[in-house]
Amino acid sequence: MRYAEPQTVEEGVSLLAATEHARCLAGGASLVAMMHAGHPAPGMLISLHRIQELSSTTETPEGLWLGAMLRHRAVAADTRLRGAMQVVRSAAAQLAHPAIRNMATIGGSVGLADPSAELPVALVAASARVEVAGPAGRRTLPVEELFVDRFKTSLARDELVTRIFVPRGTQGAVGHHLRFSRVSGDYPTVSLSLVLAMEGDTCRQARVAVGSCGPVPLHVDAADQRLVGTRLGEQDVAEAGRLLANAAAPVDDVRGSAEYRRMLIPRLLGRALTLAREHAHG
Ligand SMILES: Cc1cc2nc3c(=O)[nH]c(=O)nc-3n(C[C@H](O)[C@H](O)[C@H](O)COP(=O)(O)OP(=O)(O)OC[C@H]3O[C@@H](n4cnc5c(N)ncnc54)[C@H](O)[C@@H]3O)c2cc1C
Repeated sequence: MRYAEPQTVEEGVSLLAATEHARCLAGGASLVAMMHAGHPAPGMLISLHRIQELSSTTETPEGLWLGAMLRHRAVAADTRLRGAMQVVRSAAAQLAHPAIRNMATIGGSVGLADPSAELPVALVAASARVEVAGPAGRRTLPVEELFVDRFKTSLARDELVTRIFVPRGTQGAVGHHLRFSRVSGDYPTVSLSLVLAMEGDTCRQARVAVGSCGPVPLHVDAADQRLVGTRLGEQDVAEAGRLLANAAAPVDDVRGSAEYRRMLIPRLLGRALTLAREHAHG
């Protein structure tokens, strides 16, 4: 197997374009583990760790650009991710365990498109955008357009993720991520990310995304809209939870049955709304 360490994004893209079955290597947390587990080795591993721009963060009046090679630990520690953006920080701080958070990257998390991963869920709730580089230059797309199926993205063979834009969101909005896992540090049975803005006791804006309940992060516009304009009463939350559970397509696996996952969604939503509401008022 061949191995390359390009210094620039353009060099990385050229290598991807020129080599059949080439794969980007970020932290290696999943890719190397998969190779050890007997998955076919890529034709070439293109390590991204020497491309400096991929490890930078840029703050703008509209939000924060996070370089694809930022480790989860760095995202979790970035106090500029506050308000609505906090949802991304919250997910990075809770997912997996310290060894993985030290190793794995935000670009690897979206590039892998694991249906159980949590940063994709938080990024959907945050209405994030992804910048992608390819032979024709760079383009940005809403993060949900990146996720096509389990472990499948819309990236072309010769494209890579360069950075991710997390918008500041509505003034006064807060973001939260919750996970339910049977064993601490394991992938969650269900995860849920929420961005919420209140006006007094009335919900002004809500955006909910759910993980581990289908091939891609679940976002149901009707569920968000069911919460907006309400006081987030028990019935409002239960009905929004039902809309999400009905749209979910979970599977039975070692972390829980599909039925159990559907049952967890409204409960996690209720807890996330309570926590977010406390923060919004606090
Ligand atoms: C034991 C273990 C437990 C975990 N638990 C959790 C958990 O509880 N919650 C959770 O959310 N996640 C969990 N993860 C996933 C982890 O957080 C990372 O998202 C994942 O491992 C990717 O790691 P990486 O960044 O090192 O990417 P790599 O393993 O290096 O790459 C993963 C894939 O992404 C592609 N890729 C990498 N960077 C880019 C890029 N810039 N552009 C395009 N494609 C790219 C690679 O080609 C490869 O296909 C766990 C992983 C492991 C190994």
